[in-house]
Parts: sequence; structure tokens; C-alpha cells
Amino acid sequence: MAATLSVRQFFARFPDDDACLAHVMEVRYGLRHVCRKCSKEASFHRIAGRKAFACAQCGDHVYPCADTIFQDSRTSLQLWFYAIFLFVTTRHGVSSRELQRQLGVTLKTAWRMGHKIRELTGRADMKVMLNGHVEIDETYVGGVSDRENAFKSKTIVMGLKKRGGRLHTEIIPDTKKATFERVVTRQVQEGATISTDEHVSYNLLEISPYEHGTVNHGAKEYARGEHHVNSVESFWRIFKLSIASTHIHISKQHFDKYLREFTFRSNHRARENAMFDLLVASL
Ligand SMILES: [Zn+2]
Repeated sequence: MAATLSVRQFFARFPDDDACLAHVMEVRYGLRHVCRKCSKEASFHRIAGRKAFACAQCGDHVYPCADTIFQDSRTSLQLWFYAIFLFVTTRHGVSSRELQRQLGVTLKTAWRMGHKIRELTGRADMKVMLNGHVEIDETYVGGVSDRENAFKSKTIVMGLKKRGGRLHTEIIPDTKKATFERVVTRQVQEGATISTDEHVSYNLLEISPYEHGTVNHGAKEYARGEHHVNSVESFWRIFKLSIASTHIHISKQHFDKYLREFTFRSNHRARENAMFDLLVASL
């Protein structure tokens, strides 16, 4: 399965409601999991005619759609899935009219579905705080070139990237400890391992619920064991190069849009499937 999802791939993967139900089961419970009733690790098989699976060991029934947006809906699972697919793959968002047209449902149903999925998107996004091993780095971008005002006119950006996962970027007003702390605690799950450079404001991480390691860029050290910030730095390089080559004068006012666009692009390929499953699995 490729990272991005084409319409053709979507229908190959979810040809009917049964395939969709199996997927809900898979992402919410697993087709094989430790049974809540008999406590044995068991396979779960579809029960014909019901939206349920049964434990191969004790026969306990699991209804994977319970407590999801699909529960009690008269709209077919495949249509729900297709609606979520449109939300995940369309960059400009999906209007109710567009959903109505694409799904062949009433405008009222389309509106309600869109509303439910948008709610999920918000909740799912909050769920994806960064965890595991996270690289954090800050950089100065843009600004005017005359020496006196160069530094002042630059925008400071903080980048947080889960190794092998999502990148989060945001503009920060300064590089004070309090600013770093605000961003890190909002974006990174407790218990994560964090790599940074030697910037003094990262000292705050020494007394925090994180494992913290640094590299000393000032001493031309670029990795210390597992600690480096190379993934974030490679994003900075691409971002700065693109800005330098195509958008020479980005005003501070528009900077955020470019930053989001590039961050989105960086995450896009890896996220379509992940976001899709996250939305399907959301309560
Ligand atoms: Zn069981």
C-alpha cells in the first residue's frame, strides 16, 4: 500500500461494506487481540448478517462500530469511508455540496456527515501529539539583507519532528525558555525522547518529563549517539532554498502560510493513510 491513496486504490482496498467493517475492526481492536471476556489471545471472525465479530475461543461478540460516528447511521460504511477519503486527500477541504454530489446523498445528510468528520479531524489532530524520539530545532528565516536590520527582520521558526513521523512547525516570538516550554509541552507527549542542539533555553528540558540529549553544533558536533537534529535541519534547508529561489520577499504577514504549506507538503505523503486510519478509529 503506497503512502498516498488514489481513488482507484481506495475502491480496491474498500470494495464494499464488509471490507470497511473489517477495517474498522482492524484499526480499533485488531482481527486478533486479547479477548476482553476470556483474556486469551484469539482470532475474531465476522458473524454473518451482523456488524459484529466473534472470539474464536469463547464466542464473545465485538461490535467495532459502537461509539463511532458510524454507529446507528443509515448511510453505508463505504460511503462514510469515501467521505473521509475525500477529506483526507483534498487539500482545499470539502463542501457539503461537493459531498452531496460525490456521494449521491441528500444535502442534509452530506452536511451532517461533513460536520461529523470535521469534528473527528479536530479530535484526531489533538491525538497526534509527537511521541517516541522527537527532534527539536529553531532557525531564523528570511528578512532584509542590509546588515543593521537583518537579524531583527528575520522570522524565528521552531521545528519539532518525530523520527520517521510527523513534523510540526510554528513561528515563535523569541527563543526564551518560557516560549520553548510552551511549544514543547503542547506538542510533545510526556515520556518522549528529545534531541536538541546546545541552545541554552533547552536546559528547561533537564527537569521535565522528557529524556533529553543534545549535540553541540558550536563545537561542530552533529550527532552524539542517537541524538541529532538532522531531520529538522534538512527541512530547514529545503524551506530556505525554496524561499530564496521563488519567493524572495516574503512579508511576515504571509510567512505563516508558506511555512504551513511546506510543512503540509513534508507531512502529506506519510499522512494520508495515517490520517485516514486515525479518523476511522476515532470515537
Ligand atoms: Zn474470548
